[in-house]
Amino acid sequence: MSNALSALETTELGDLSIVSVPCLNDNFAYLVRDGASGHVALIDAPEAEPVEAALHVLGWTLTHIFITHHHGDHIDGIEDLRARGNVTVIGSSADARRLPVLTESVTPGESFRWGGIEVQVIDTPGHTVGHIVYYMPGPGALFSGDTLFAMGCGRLFEGTAQQMWGGLSALANLPDETVVFFGHEYTATNADFALTVDPHNEMLHRRVHDVIDTLESGGRTTPTTIGLERATNPFLRAVSPDVAREVGLPDADPEIVFAEVRRRKDAA
Ligand code: ZN
Ligand code: FE
Repeated sequence: MSNALSALETTELGDLSIVSVPCLNDNFAYLVRDGASGHVALIDAPEAEPVEAALHVLGWTLTHIFITHHHGDHIDGIEDLRARGNVTVIGSSADARRLPVLTESVTPGESFRWGGIEVQVIDTPGHTVGHIVYYMPGPGALFSGDTLFAMGCGRLFEGTAQQMWGGLSALANLPDETVVFFGHEYTATNADFALTVDPHNEMLHRRVHDVIDTLESGGRTTPTTIGLERATNPFLRAVSPDVAREVGLPDADPEIVFAEVRRRKDAA
């Protein structure tokens, strides 16, 4: 039991306890317990088994599932998990037609209450057109799904670079100390790519060393913070003259620079 417990990495933020649950090859699901209400939410459900194992070790009862987007590696565990009990499944009203049956739909751009916690639903089209992220301003937690990763962002499967940039800009404007829980452990390859478009960024170099140490010792790179991403994420750094120059667009708008950085990452 103690071995299993020590494998669960917990972040405490105000009343929230947040546990990252590695799933499938490189997905992260997150179990979030609100100490005030006792509610337990799962953010995305790649598969049921590791989530059930973590719930068992923690002694928590799942009450809610929040969905960021419709891809199978974020929803395929939902049916099994909801079959085990009374679980409220929450997702975007705008994408409900291709999500599992929702118990409650939420509207992008609006807020809802979960236990004692205010949750803002931020519209982040790009990876998919219906992608949303969940921001809890009280404890300062952001669940960014496949929109914002450590030193990366999601691929543009459905939306345009312009749409993705709009969503990423909204996230970049959140407070620097916001703790970001992202959907995939892509950090090593993201770091390699970041260095190619932002080679003179000292903070990026330091971060890449830290990430290599963390991964080599078997650790996880989640969570990150908005401040760290603003300083080292090559996609958010589309606002930086250094990155613009590096990709050959010295006077271009950030949105254009972003599109070029994304294109280069896709080709890398
Ligand atoms: Zn996805
Ligand atoms: Fe994914």
